[in-house]
Amino acid sequence: MYQIIDGKAISTQLKDELKERVSALKEQGKQPCLAVILVGEDPASTVYVGNKKKACEYIGIKSLSYELPESTTQEELLALIGKLNDDDSVNGILVQLPLPKHIDEDAVIQAISPKKDVDGFHPQSVGALCIGQPGFVSCTPAGIIELLKRSNIEIAGKECVVIGRSNIVGKPMSLLMLRENATVTICHSKTRDLKEVARRADILIVAIGKPKMITAEYVKEGAVVIDVGIHRLEGKKLCGDVDFDDVAPHTSAITPVPGGVGPMTIAMLMKNCVDAGE
Ligand code: NDP
Repeated sequence: MYQIIDGKAISTQLKDELKERVSALKEQGKQPCLAVILVGEDPASTVYVGNKKKACEYIGIKSLSYELPESTTQEELLALIGKLNDDDSVNGILVQLPLPKHIDEDAVIQAISPKKDVDGFHPQSVGALCIGQPGFVSCTPAGIIELLKRSNIEIAGKECVVIGRSNIVGKPMSLLMLRENATVTICHSKTRDLKEVARRADILIVAIGKPKMITAEYVKEGAVVIDVGIHRLEGKKLCGDVDFDDVAPHTSAITPVPGGVGPMTIAMLMKNCVDAGE
């Protein structure tokens, strides 16, 4: 029988621990503060920002909200980031992506002070992760490490295959698994014999953005499968990059969608804010 890794329960546990850390900070007269910037009215982004604000409220983090019109220029956005960088009462700055097309995302990410880069997207944060120095780590991969550890899944010495090499998931995920002493293989759209490579994995992490692409043929018997993908099917049902019903019986543990990796992303963002506040 396989274990379903309960991201909802683990993220709640983590948020409750953070709540206590924030209470301790408040007793010293301090409160972590996150500035959230949303440009435009993309419906998915609006929902994500709303969820982040709710999580801040639950934990006791102060959140400042900047909802800017679609017509905001890059200069105006950079000026706001500069102001928040200089404001000592702000510990974390988050710019919700994607940004409207007329704004250069890289320039915006690089404008955020690495000390306040709670999303972990700044090149300095990524570089620090790469060479094993302290810094903020991208929230989704960091959340997956937390999920594995809190589910008592050993990482050291295991064969880990990560499918996907994006800057926000696949690459930092691979670096984190390496830091945890796994033997890591990274796959992408040009990988030959993906099924064969994936079947080497003791821990298979899937972040490809293709609904239910990973079937049982990609999975070694008894592997741990982590599904990062999230897709809304017709009828509003959610699914991941993994065909859960087909794959789960062949695993020793698997994350569901929803209720697996998703809830951990926001919880880790909150952790980064509390770390910054401390
Ligand atoms: P990207 O589209 O940026 O990257 C997808 C990666 O998958 C690329 O590296 C691509 O390869 C690779 N890929 C695409 N098709 C194939 C294929 N047929 N075989 C092998 N590799 C393939 O996606 P993200 O990393 O941003 O996100 C991945 C998924 O995770 C999405 O569904 C997204 O919605 C979800 N997500 C969920 C989060 C959460 O909190 N749960 C957070 C972030 C993302 P190549 O580089 O060669 O193009």
